Amino acid sequence: MFCLLYPVLMTRRRWIADSWDEATASLTGEQASHLIRVLRAQPGMEFDIVAGDRVWHAVIAGISGDSVRFNLLAEEKADPALPVTLLLSVFRFERMEWAIEKATELGVERVLPVIARRSEKHLAQSAKTRAERWRRIAREAAKQSRRSDVPVIDDPLPLKTALQQEKQGARLLLAEQERSTTLRHALTEALAASGDQMPLISMAVGPEGGWTAEEEALFDAEGWKPVSLGPRILRAETAAMTAMAVTAALLE
Ligand code: SAM
Repeated sequence: MFCLLYPVLMTRRRWIADSWDEATASLTGEQASHLIRVLRAQPGMEFDIVAGDRVWHAVIAGISGDSVRFNLLAEEKADPALPVTLLLSVFRFERMEWAIEKATELGVERVLPVIARRSEKHLAQSAKTRAERWRRIAREAAKQSRRSDVPVIDDPLPLKTALQQEKQGARLLLAEQERSTTLRHALTEALAASGDQMPLISMAVGPEGGWTAEEEALFDAEGWKPVSLGPRILRAETAAMTAMAVTAALLE
């Protein structure tokens, strides 16, 4: 009886195109082999395809070898990412990767991994080779959360270099000792200051050992504002996810 009254909203599975033009798109590699071997894809099957930052209702037009070709039928509504750049200190990789997955689900536009003074040496040294894996994690999380784009994951940079290049918008330093300004307060201020435009926001999360006093002075000299996520000391990955959730709640 229930199914007669309320039509079931079918959400088509979403894929991220490896190449596309105005009328067609193609998948190769892992995505294509999953479609062909696991989902037994056939010409005529319909899916959603993310091509750049646009989303299309698409139909499989052909399968050859390890490549699946789609015809793009109609453009779907795309939900843009939040204008947020997350400076994520390098810390234990499995926790950092959890933070990248959660930040992607919550709409981050870009993640810039930074090597902080208290980032463990061996992690700092292997961070660059790990970046491809972080991009794969962001891509999978973008698909799973039905985003219409994939966040940019930059190559890791030393903190000082990152601060010299990140000069735009509201720059917020997540600082566990901060007691007067909360993230929510700073975001509300940034929103008011940007009128009806979405404010550009950068947020920096420290490593497990936290920022050094020298780094906090560097942030201050570069115009970053310390903000609090509350009285409790959060793990770095929890702080990253919480900051994104507070931002999404305020901006969406
Ligand atoms: N050094 C700290 C300690 O052990 O006392 C902990 C650092 S915390 C595990 C890692 C990072 O998460 C911090 O550098 C900060 O960026 C962020 N963070 C954690 N709790 C926070 C809070 N309550 N407010 C703002 N940022 C916080």
